[in-house]
Amino acid sequence: MFVCEVRFECFADTTISAAQHAINHLLEAWRANGQILGREFAVSFHDGEFKARLMLPAQDSLANRHNSPWAKAALKGLTDAKILPPREKLLGQDINANESATHTPEWQLLYTSYVHMCSPVRSGDNLLPIPLYKLPATFNGDHKQLIRWQTEWQACDELQMASATKAEFAALDELCNVGSDLFRRGWDLRGRIEYLTKIPTYYYLYRVGGSSLQDELARPCPRCGSTGWRLDEPLLDMFHFRCEPCRIVSNLSWDYQ
Ligand SMILES: [Zn+2]
Repeated sequence: MFVCEVRFECFADTTISAAQHAINHLLEAWRANGQILGREFAVSFHDGEFKARLMLPAQDSLANRHNSPWAKAALKGLTDAKILPPREKLLGQDINANESATHTPEWQLLYTSYVHMCSPVRSGDNLLPIPLYKLPATFNGDHKQLIRWQTEWQACDELQMASATKAEFAALDELCNVGSDLFRRGWDLRGRIEYLTKIPTYYYLYRVGGSSLQDELARPCPRCGSTGWRLDEPLLDMFHFRCEPCRIVSNLSWDYQ
């Protein structure tokens, strides 16, 4: 991930609120397309110029060729608000974050956690995030639905990791159960990505609990009931189970690792 400062300069008289509106619109569009990461963007105003500090999956994430139709329209909206096209200054690499995947993988998966702000689509070769704008748009010109799914998955993960409220159990059910709403939506998005990219795309099903290690090792695929989904060696040191027809990968219960 890269840290970047984007500057927006007014070229004629405008109001702060019109400028703010146009800038926020562009930031939302970039976020919905995976071109900028995170949820909150600090935008400051000084001497007729707005500055936003942004996290990018790659150095060239804001290049015009990656823009969605919405982002392109939002850029036009800047002109209407009397703002010049944004100017970028790369501040450096985020030392705490992953790089992005650079090669087309053999397979890929939908995987996130509450500490990851990067793309929820990961390479199956090395688990590196694949910037969403590099994938064909999943719905309505960008990846809004995928980002919404990620945000909700992370919220559930945060609740269950904190283990401090009764919401923990409802959250865990969303992460672990193939009957849950989060599973259904994520699994459908996974299918959409596989269809568009022609790359086998799996859904990561979180697993915790269980009554014994033996039972956990013999755990069948929760979707089709097959016991043939256990792998001899875990994939990426993490996924002990993979059901090809169901397109699900899962870990050995965290209670037994
Ligand atoms: Zn299965």
